[in-house]
Amino acid sequence: MDGITTFELLDNNIKQAIKQTGGKPTVLEALWDGDTEGWYLLLNLYMDKGQYLRLGTVDPRLFSHEKTYPLEATLANKWGWKAVEKYGLTFYFPSDKEPDDDCPSWKDRHLGIQCADCGKLIIPKKSAHLPQDVCYNCHLTREVNEKIRTSAPVDGVYMYLWKGEVYESIGYATYFKSFNISEFVNEKVQRRMMDDVICMVTLDQQDIIELKEQLQQTIDIKLAAYKIPELDSRREKFATFKTVEYNGHQHKFLIEYNSDRSGIIDYIDSLRTAEKALLEGFVYRIFFKRKFTYREETILRFVKYVSKGAADISAINQRYVGTLSAEEVMDTLRHLEQLNCLSIYMQEARVTPLGNNIV
Ligand SMILES: [Zn+2]
Repeated sequence: MDGITTFELLDNNIKQAIKQTGGKPTVLEALWDGDTEGWYLLLNLYMDKGQYLRLGTVDPRLFSHEKTYPLEATLANKWGWKAVEKYGLTFYFPSDKEPDDDCPSWKDRHLGIQCADCGKLIIPKKSAHLPQDVCYNCHLTREVNEKIRTSAPVDGVYMYLWKGEVYESIGYATYFKSFNISEFVNEKVQRRMMDDVICMVTLDQQDIIELKEQLQQTIDIKLAAYKIPELDSRREKFATFKTVEYNGHQHKFLIEYNSDRSGIIDYIDSLRTAEKALLEGFVYRIFFKRKFTYREETILRFVKYVSKGAADISAINQRYVGTLSAEEVMDTLRHLEQLNCLSIYMQEARVTPLGNNIV
């Protein structure tokens, strides 16, 4: 089906529908559909004599500089109301804020119920695991709020190159074992760990020299054994190739489902990081967050990302109204202050460098 990039194109399609059916448009319908490639917003038209026509999908390509999400919804809203003005039709867009394929079509809308939280019209999912009275999006929001209320624990590991004031992020993972260098340095790291909520382990230049050697050995062994595998037609569909330089030679790797399953490219990336550290005088700093609560995590994120590093305590209260009491917010802020993640002065909470490094 054709992508619709402008209101003019949509309008042309409506005019054509009028010509084709000899009728009058009564309802313009915008419905989400999704597959493995992502979400699509379909535009359909109902005519006064009962005909139903597919007009196309909203194609936001020309507007990709705009930042509102999802762009398709913003465009459909704009175009839909223009169509209302021009044709006096009804614009039916049941999920105009986020993708959702549980909404009924215009003709099935009598089968829908209103989401108890956001009011959106939905057809309840036939699943015993999902609540029947809210849409999927609100279900997820409820789950998050429940984690905030009950203070569920959250783990995380943040790895940086560090020199003086400079932190360069290497990566984040829930568990240390997800970093491919963990197989070489895990014992060392475990020995240096303290039993703190937030604990920092450093790998100094000597550690990095050893790490670099181990990475090189591993890459050499894996490269010697690597052959691009034969592919059947299904795997071929998800395959591309990537060429990477190592030791002055170009090596070609198979990438399937966005991943090089041999892992060699990732080892080469880790080697580059180690080489950069040695060349430019960085060390590794690894932050472990344990027994941290989801409540602390979300409030720290709110101050760091939403409030750009500093937030009025009243704004934090406002954000969690209905989920946390002002007292619970204050207790959490005090605890984050004790952990040296936030500083509190007057009525303002500010993220510290440590807080900055762990969310
Ligand atoms: Zn909802």
